[in-house]
Amino acid sequence: MSYTPTRSDFDRYMAPNYAPQQVIPVRGEGSRLWDQEGREYIDFAGGIAVNALGHCHPVLVDALKDQADKVWHLANVYTNEPALKLAKALVERTFADKVFLCSSGGEANEAALKLARRWAYNEHGEHKDKIISFRQSFHGRTFFTVSVGGQPKYSQGFGPVPGGILHAEFNDLEAVRELMGDDTCAVMVEPMQGEGGIVPATQEFLEGVRALCDEHQALLIFDEVQTGVGRSGSLYAYMEYGVTPDILTSAKSLGGGFPVGAMLTTDAIAPALGIGTHGSTYGGNALASAVALAAVEFIDTPEVLEGVKRRHALFRELLEEINQKHGVFKEVRGMGMLMGAQMSPAYEGRAKDILPLAIEEGLMALIAGPNVLRMAPSLVIPEDDIREGMARLELAIAKLVAKA
Ligand SMILES: *Cc1c(COP(=O)(O)O)cnc(C)c1O
Repeated sequence: MSYTPTRSDFDRYMAPNYAPQQVIPVRGEGSRLWDQEGREYIDFAGGIAVNALGHCHPVLVDALKDQADKVWHLANVYTNEPALKLAKALVERTFADKVFLCSSGGEANEAALKLARRWAYNEHGEHKDKIISFRQSFHGRTFFTVSVGGQPKYSQGFGPVPGGILHAEFNDLEAVRELMGDDTCAVMVEPMQGEGGIVPATQEFLEGVRALCDEHQALLIFDEVQTGVGRSGSLYAYMEYGVTPDILTSAKSLGGGFPVGAMLTTDAIAPALGIGTHGSTYGGNALASAVALAAVEFIDTPEVLEGVKRRHALFRELLEEINQKHGVFKEVRGMGMLMGAQMSPAYEGRAKDILPLAIEEGLMALIAGPNVLRMAPSLVIPEDDIREGMARLELAIAKLVAKA
């Protein structure tokens, strides 16, 4: 007997760690989605900055189908062609010389942190183990990455947290300087905080942190899980700043919706990850790598990257127009197709109330903390979808204002 799942099945069968919206999307094409009832939505959420080419982009569908008939998975007992091509593509397009492949952002960050610790241990000794990161930062949900992340609510209640982790205020160079010393192993930072509220690092801050790392022989790790693969308007946000890290992590947009992650580093550091030091069964999975290669090759072109900047300008203009009418936002900020609108004091903590109202109007959006409405749409979202989505957002905002 055929069976159609319902939202109440979520409460019945799924672990209760999420609170999904009431509708269940069943089909997507480009930046539009349809739910079980056939209602259509415009997608400004992009699977949380993942669906870089929207839904079912033919380039990704073809890459997936083509590889599906060849070989899916070998584990790392063998290497495979798509993984080698993906690693080469990433090396040729970035500062990096070496790539470690995995399946998610948290896993890429876990690898980055372990690499940094092992490098410092090998090169300088056991004392050099301090990792500095930032308040409000987000680096994943493994126990090491929630501990390095700057939102204690994600690590509290799980027992003793790993030691040697220090937190500074984001964009406060003096605070970093105070924590830095000869025992500093690495600084981990998002060039633009994503979950923390879409807060770009200042130019001086990233340049200053780079200089401090050089001074103290510490590694600079950029977590570009959310900002990477075209989202900033460059292939990686470090290119926008002209500040080069020693280790960079990538996931989310990298697979365009297929689970994949990567950690990039240099020839000077990579040897610390010698045979047997680290691994992942699915790392370099052939299907995942084939899709990611297609995504990277398609996105890293002037057409797509310039298109991201054009679309950013249009988003900003339309958000400002909405704000002139309704005055709900204090500030609109972000880079490329990763934008945030901070709620004005009168709507403090109300960003999440917009999401179900937007769903009613046929729009999917996101929040980044209680005060920021976040948008992370497809990098190639058509202009018509942007305008129509913004019209729907305005209807949702009008409802929020009417309720207030
Ligand atoms: C989403 C995110 C992660 C975690 O990625 P997962 O794939 O969920 O493990 C890590 N860092 C940043 C900056 C992120 O936005």
